[in-house]
Amino acid sequence: MLKISPIPAFSDNYIWHLTRGDEHWVVDPGDARPVIEALGDSALSGILITHHHLDHTGGVAQLSTRFQCPVYGPASIKGVTEPLTDGDQRELLGLPLRVMAVPGHTLDHLALLLEEENPGGAPRAHLFCGDTLFAAGCGRLFEGTPAQMYASLSKLGALPPETKVYCAHEYTLANLHFAEAAEPGNTAIVNRLAEAEALRANDRPTLPSTIGEELATNPFLRCHIPAVARRALNHGADGSLENPDEVQVFTLLRSWKDNF
Ligand SMILES: [Zn+2]
Repeated sequence: MLKISPIPAFSDNYIWHLTRGDEHWVVDPGDARPVIEALGDSALSGILITHHHLDHTGGVAQLSTRFQCPVYGPASIKGVTEPLTDGDQRELLGLPLRVMAVPGHTLDHLALLLEEENPGGAPRAHLFCGDTLFAAGCGRLFEGTPAQMYASLSKLGALPPETKVYCAHEYTLANLHFAEAAEPGNTAIVNRLAEAEALRANDRPTLPSTIGEELATNPFLRCHIPAVARRALNHGADGSLENPDEVQVFTLLRSWKDNF
């Protein structure tokens, strides 16, 4: 049985802790201390990294030295022992792991999809998407172009709707407030905001979400919806855009959100 739980770190990061049998893996350990605390007497079996930012990698050196464990991630990151690239298939915790390149937030960004067997049904998929896709939002564009990020998000949005989405930050409430502004009248956003507010009031994570939920409420996956395109245009266009394509809508939304 696969168990996935969040280890909170810094002010709003989640380090995802994956356990199956007596194996323990973590995704994006920006800090070693909370991981060591969560492990208790158990040993760490390995580390997964989605991208090079320090709040995702800061604990790697200490953890990999202490537990002598492998580090899977983009080849350019110091300390990675098992370089991953787009299309790679590996085995992790006895389960298939699929690697997707999702440039945009950074150029090295990977998304990792772990598939759990489900006797009699389709495999249950768990997506570790770092700072690319957030609940009701997406990462800032530090290195890539809007077209790259939009292609990456579209790739994730094409996964089966029941795929669980494990983002690396608790940004859901702020993202949903923006989503409401970007698409007023979308009741799925209103309902999701009420649910997220209740969870946060009890100090509980709003994650994981699902691809289906994101398709219904995440403005950055809804650039093809005319109402979203209209709002984005009204907010930020220079007047020269009449029939914006989806990348242009995405670009307007992202810069609106940057200043929201
Ligand atoms: Zn980042």
